[in-house]
Amino acid sequence: MSIIPDTSIEEVRDLSDIVDVVGDYVRLKKRGSNFVGLCPFHTEKTPSFNVNPSLGIFKCFGCGEGGDVFSFVSRVEGLSFPESVRLLAERVGVVLPEEDGPGEEASENESIYHALRFTARYFFSALSGDDAEAARDILRERAITPESVKTFGIGFAPDGWEGLLTQAQKAPIDPDILEKAGLIIPRKDGSGHYDRYRYRLIFPIFSHVGKVLGFGGRIIRPDDEPKYINSPETPVYNKSRVLYGLYHAKNAIRSQEEAILVEGYTDVISLYQAGVKHVVASSGTALTPDQVSALARYAKTIVLLYDADKAGLRAALRGIDLILKSGLIPYAVRLPDGEDPDSYVRTHGGPAFEAYLKDHRQHFVDFVHENARAAGSMDTPEGRAAVQRTIVQSIALIPDDLVRESYLRTASGVLDIPDVQLRPVLEAARRGERRAAIRQERRRMRTTLSGSEEPALKPRRGPDKAALPAEKRLLRIMLEGGLDMVEWIMGNMPLSDFTEGPSRRMAEMLVEQYQNEAFDRNVFLSHSVDATIRSLTAEIMTVELEPSENWTRRKNIRVPGLDENATEAAASAMVLLKLHRLREQETHLRQAIFQAESGGEETRELNRQLVELKRFEKAVKERKFIDAV
Ligand SMILES: [Zn+2]
Repeated sequence: MSIIPDTSIEEVRDLSDIVDVVGDYVRLKKRGSNFVGLCPFHTEKTPSFNVNPSLGIFKCFGCGEGGDVFSFVSRVEGLSFPESVRLLAERVGVVLPEEDGPGEEASENESIYHALRFTARYFFSALSGDDAEAARDILRERAITPESVKTFGIGFAPDGWEGLLTQAQKAPIDPDILEKAGLIIPRKDGSGHYDRYRYRLIFPIFSHVGKVLGFGGRIIRPDDEPKYINSPETPVYNKSRVLYGLYHAKNAIRSQEEAILVEGYTDVISLYQAGVKHVVASSGTALTPDQVSALARYAKTIVLLYDADKAGLRAALRGIDLILKSGLIPYAVRLPDGEDPDSYVRTHGGPAFEAYLKDHRQHFVDFVHENARAAGSMDTPEGRAAVQRTIVQSIALIPDDLVRESYLRTASGVLDIPDVQLRPVLEAARRGERRAAIRQERRRMRTTLSGSEEPALKPRRGPDKAALPAEKRLLRIMLEGGLDMVEWIMGNMPLSDFTEGPSRRMAEMLVEQYQNEAFDRNVFLSHSVDATIRSLTAEIMTVELEPSENWTRRKNIRVPGLDENATEAAASAMVLLKLHRLREQETHLRQAIFQAESGGEETRELNRQLVELKRFEKAVKERKFIDAV
């Protein structure tokens, strides 16, 4: 790469509006002659990140980071100085020497970007070829206009195995770089490469500053498999960070302070051309925290369009928590049955779509409550308690005190429970969140300090203890009931209620499976788990776990058999387990009181705790979990 002349650097600096550039990453508000926002370089809740447009500089008073527009881009994008100049030059339309091809010294990433840009142009022009008729038919059916084709760079990958490879080599682009860019695949016999995308409609995936990062390729022949081929992760394409359509949507999102989240490429394109421009898709992945923070640079609220099936609801619930956690406000909207955003906007037009979104958006409290009621979860006391807990736990994620309070009052209205009754649950959930945040921070620091991506040190554990009958029942119910049951049970009790040892480790693994939506009960019997989990699993899956007669008689608690309603069985097992934990605490307390009394010490506080404990115990017996925590 040739050296960029100083005059060009100054020209790029003059033409780059620092507020505009920073605004792509940070939601800025005008304050006096400065603009302020939340710093992208450190985590903060009140803005200490300042941009001064007349001086062309930024400065964070929280972490000390500061500089000009080039150092901002360099830091935020992880680029070298010349790369930052080139990125900004592209943005303001300054032509730098040797812009068409990277020279020998170009970094590998720049070569990959170059290969991707070349490929995007190749696919785009192939769409006008004679062999692309069927691809153009699909676009016509979906009423995608030529203007949208241009805006989104839609293209066509011709049939055949080496079309792109041959053209790229003429350019010349090294096959090694094409492979690193995810565009070609090495042949198994080692004799060269072949194209990844063959006879497909192509949707380029852009970064938020308009760089091509990868492609999604949709089938043209209905019986081809799979329906979509997406670029693999590459040095420049990290799927969990990228949102499809963000490059085109970001200005609209910024001005409306709202983003609509849909599922597919064509949903984004159809809405955009109908004038609904603040729309993005998290294509290929479930919504990730990084994607939400990318949106948080521009938006305050996020509207989730969801499918009413189970997977759709679960995805929406997960999305809601991610969004709340990042300080944004989620709304959920369900389209009429049988409609997707693409079909809706084609039939009714953009303004009708926006009106529908305004009229049908639900805040998350209503959303969770209504879906729980529809699913019958509000028909039993423990079901209601679980729903209340789910909602309050979501509220606990909201970082802003005032917003959180306001949602607590909303929840109290929707659930018809005085908010004083919800508050203890909220406080407990917030303590849990803080602990989790601290753990995560510690883990991050350890990773940074050791410079490795190795998982954090294992938390210190006491000696393994044997599982209690009640938790064996719970584990079995989860194994048999799958993700829904894991969700319900773990929504009602903390992992710490499980005995330290194989049973807690097993519960942790189930929670992990739940989080990854990858339920696999066989793994617990496989050699990938430690022997204690294996033998526990074998035991709980084979031994008859009928409730002991003793329990029923002694504690006067009804314990149904496992073949009865599984939820009911789980609820009563949870009661037994919680009571067991409370009794342990009670024993400790009584010992402490005894010791204090014999030492002539004050016992009022300990006695108060004992009374409190007894109250909890009563509430647990009456299954008022929500009051008992
Ligand atoms: Zn900072």
